[in-house]
Amino acid sequence: MSAASNNFVARLRPLRLPRVCVPVIGSDATGMLDKAEAIVRDNQFLEFRLDYLSRPALALPKIKQFTEYYPHVAVVATCRRVAGGGKFKGTIAAELDILGKAAAAGCQLVDLELQSAMRAKPQQIERLRNSAALILSFHDFRATKNLEKVLEKMVAVPAEFYKIVTTATTLYDNVLMMKFIEKNSDRHSLIGVCMGEQGIISRVLGLRAGSIFTFAAASEDEKTAPGQVTAQELRSTYRIEQVDAATRVYGVAGDPVSHSLSPAIMNAALRRETVNGVYLALHAKTLKDLLACVRDIPIHGLSVTMPYKTAVLRFLDNTDPYTTKIGACNTVVRAQDGKLYGFNTDAAGIVRPLQQRLELENAKILVLGAGGAARAAVFGLKERGAEVYILNRTPGPAQKLARSARARSIKRADLKKLAFDVIINATPVGMGNTRESPLKEDEIKARYVFEMIYDPPETRLMKLAKAAGAEVIAGIEMFVQQAARQFEIWTGKPAPLDEMQKVAMLTLQEREVARAAKQNNKR
Ligand code: NAP
Repeated sequence: MSAASNNFVARLRPLRLPRVCVPVIGSDATGMLDKAEAIVRDNQFLEFRLDYLSRPALALPKIKQFTEYYPHVAVVATCRRVAGGGKFKGTIAAELDILGKAAAAGCQLVDLELQSAMRAKPQQIERLRNSAALILSFHDFRATKNLEKVLEKMVAVPAEFYKIVTTATTLYDNVLMMKFIEKNSDRHSLIGVCMGEQGIISRVLGLRAGSIFTFAAASEDEKTAPGQVTAQELRSTYRIEQVDAATRVYGVAGDPVSHSLSPAIMNAALRRETVNGVYLALHAKTLKDLLACVRDIPIHGLSVTMPYKTAVLRFLDNTDPYTTKIGACNTVVRAQDGKLYGFNTDAAGIVRPLQQRLELENAKILVLGAGGAARAAVFGLKERGAEVYILNRTPGPAQKLARSARARSIKRADLKKLAFDVIINATPVGMGNTRESPLKEDEIKARYVFEMIYDPPETRLMKLAKAAGAEVIAGIEMFVQQAARQFEIWTGKPAPLDEMQKVAMLTLQEREVARAAKQNNKR
């Protein structure tokens, strides 16, 4: 490291590089600087993506004004060429020229892609490092592989920071990235992140592995890399500034999981109860991949969702009696000794809201469906002494479930002559639309109708039930209750139910608004 660059690292030190760098993009220089002004109060570390501008040089006088006005803000200039995954169509000489001028305009850091650096002359790089700290970066838009070899190539070019951004195609790719950072961060100042939906683990846990900082988008619409999350999400949902070596990792595992409400409500619960934990959406394409992460990260608790609720059973060391009876596990705990224990909290999600409303002993309850959720309902309610009836599209599974749970299976035609205390919808009919219902209005003869579906928040069945005079229990209540039980199993603390319910409703409402806006845009 030259004396000049030492000087720059010394200049950066008082800035104490914040842990989250936010790229700033814009279609023109004014737009980009306006954006920077709008976010600078909450974000003290910005990356000006000059390559997003058709004429990057025009932004430099404005950047100078900005850096003079905000001397405490750390600013990176990037003008990545198309060959390196950026948008700049100029030559390497032009890229270096812009970066040099950006440094003169007050950017304390400049980002140069390895491909460009390898083709530049050492004196050109040295000149750049005389005016700013250099982040030498490498991007792999396909995979996470050969990290050690890449680093070996990179360190041949002297730089203050080495940034390696790869693509996670499995969850375990994050583990590879974090192990790589842990191993090398005492010798080099590294920044390591995996892109893609599956890269979320490295985005949240990379800092504790030794990454100097990470990246996050200014907003949903301003993501500059696949899988990037917003700075607001990283800070308030994942509490990235507090993640440390002792932070316990939890997650929801399934395929897909991007729609899951669990990260929002579980992180809110962990925050409210001041549990040092973070909860991630783990898009697992195989159970093998997921379980390798559980072992090596390690992950302390999992919410298991489709399609792994049954398949996960054979990998567990022990399960509670419900899980065995129901034949499905939605909660995994990793004990201190690494053993995996399985629970099923769906039953609690159904029983608890009902117990708050009626006496379950001898209550007459109809369950629609005979799949996993129906099984949880039937066994949970039978244990509380309810008289349970099962109606399923296909009679076979209903009869089988009725036999094993000592319940009764009925035919749809029987509905005419039967009335119930509760009808529970445990089928997906009505999910994602407001047209379909598993029952017609004249088939609903019950005091309560319990809808398991929570998206949309008000289904067709709920509307028909209200019209038929029944009191409705919304699916979100089950969702929150089963999650609350998971929280209790993992942390040993009572779950902050009100907070979880509030966050769940808010997240659903936000989704509805976003969906409506998208439809409006299409028109
Ligand atoms: P599952 O195991 O796939 O079972 C689905 C059941 O619904 C089966 O009995 C199936 O009948 C029946 N079914 C499917 N399509 C149907 C149709 N078009 N008409 C009539 N019956 C139909 O699913 P699951 O895991 O039990 O989940 C069921 C529902 O509960 C889903 O909507 C899920 O989102 C919801 N759920 C909610 C929560 C919550 O926290 N709120 C928790 C778990 C589940 P066949 O046997 O004839 O195929």
